[in-house]
Amino acid sequence: MTRKRRAGIFSALTTSITLVLSIGLSSVSTGAETTTLVKPDPSRSAHIKELLSGVSLIDGHNDLPWQYRKLGNDMNAINLTRDARKINLVTDFPRLKDGCVGGQFWSVYIPPAMLGSVAVRAVLEQIDVVHQMVARYPDRLELALTADDIERIHRSGKVASLIGMEGGHSIDNSLAMLRMTYALGARYMTLTHTKSLDWADAAGDEPKAHGLSRFGESVIHEMNQLGMLVDVSHVSDETMATAIQSSKAPVICSHSSARAICDVPRNVPDEMLKAIAARGGMVMVNFVPGFLTEKGRVYGIAEQAEEDRLGKLFGKDEKKTQPLLDEWKKSHPAPQPTLNDVANHMDHIRNVAGVNCLGIGADYEGFGHPPIGLEDVSCYPALLTELSRRGYSDEEIKKVAGLNLLRVLRSVEKVAKELKPVRAH
Ligand SMILES: [Zn+2]
Repeated sequence: MTRKRRAGIFSALTTSITLVLSIGLSSVSTGAETTTLVKPDPSRSAHIKELLSGVSLIDGHNDLPWQYRKLGNDMNAINLTRDARKINLVTDFPRLKDGCVGGQFWSVYIPPAMLGSVAVRAVLEQIDVVHQMVARYPDRLELALTADDIERIHRSGKVASLIGMEGGHSIDNSLAMLRMTYALGARYMTLTHTKSLDWADAAGDEPKAHGLSRFGESVIHEMNQLGMLVDVSHVSDETMATAIQSSKAPVICSHSSARAICDVPRNVPDEMLKAIAARGGMVMVNFVPGFLTEKGRVYGIAEQAEEDRLGKLFGKDEKKTQPLLDEWKKSHPAPQPTLNDVANHMDHIRNVAGVNCLGIGADYEGFGHPPIGLEDVSCYPALLTELSRRGYSDEEIKKVAGLNLLRVLRSVEKVAKELKPVRAH
């Protein structure tokens, strides 16, 4: 989830696959090879789809549960069996099928302003949404708790549904809460969202822990013991470095891109890419426009400044601020990145940290204006086809699609087994 999902996703989408980007507030070059999309070779596309029938394609982050929450967690409000474009969603079963999705971490995001018992209640309600989704569509979804589960469920033709918690505020400084969320199925926790906690710092926020506090270290240890993936998306560089060091198991970024290409604090710098790879972890690349290109970054700053300005004038009254923000957006069209920009981040991570470090964590349903060519969850094969065009081997593409995540999860499961306390006789 980005800071806030923007309204009106589809107003700015185009079906054109050939578009040269020219809109933007900045002329800074990304150094990207090209932003022009070319129609993929049909035989290459067919080959990638064939390849994906034999490997579980796993995405690291989708905010669909938050979309339910915006509708009062009314499970009748979204029918996933139908095309959900009409209700401005990019996720539904027909498109998940087209996208060859075998496994999905459903994010049980709660805003960082939620704290204490409010946060605990909200995260339990979000976990409940995933359980209800699975119960409601048993022929399409099944809860996955292990790497073996993911492969088995994918083989049965369903989407393996994993739960990812976004932000350590979800556990309200309680290791018991961490253990109980694991028991309910949570398989990663992003240490922070956009606000620093007492025990871990967020990228772009004032540090409090300067890495990890003693309690933060105990959170990592408990996650290692449980077999929960430590997710360092969103955290500060200092916290990321400390978490990589502290964790006995490999860590992941469930939805982050490369800072060398787009210089936002939320993206991962080269030395951290190398450190994550050296410990066997991985970075699942994010599709959020503001994190992909310099134009997007500059636009994001301007948009945030306008939102803050309106907030100061009208407080939190979204009924007043949203129409004014929409007006501002009309006169300041957002620069639209393309699938190529995402592929550029992947190339960079592969070059710096190796292909074993690379995955996909789109962040769908957590942001507006997806890149051209990656409009919804049906588009993963198009991205992998582009990687093939760029020279990735079939084996490399399988790793990016899902084998890397399965390897990391198995490694985390193994560490948990090794750390299990010896029982007293
Ligand atoms: Zn996020």
